Amino acid sequence: MKSSLQCPKCRCRKIWCIEEPHHDNRFQGGTPLRVVYERRVGPVNNGFFSDGGRDRVSVGTYEVFICTACGYAEWYARDIEALEENPDEGVRLLDGELQGSAYR
Ligand SMILES: [Zn+2]
Repeated sequence: MKSSLQCPKCRCRKIWCIEEPHHDNRFQGGTPLRVVYERRVGPVNNGFFSDGGRDRVSVGTYEVFICTACGYAEWYARDIEALEENPDEGVRLLDGELQGSAYR
């Protein structure tokens, strides 16, 4: 939809683009939605107020395209070059090119 400017569901060609969607936080105002994941930065600590040695990593923002007719939405992440694979923390890189070559 981003490049075709046509909704893949209903074929409508009028598309909203929101370059920096915000999370509506009624206590602090709107804040931009960011690509965020957690990673362990220290030993596991089960103390009552401990965060378990975890850190939040913020690496980029989103943009969203929304069909004016049916509301179908596509999200794209931007500025995510700093993402690092860490399967233990749920950040995995799925490389279809490597998987495809294994079956040739
Ligand atoms: Zn549509």
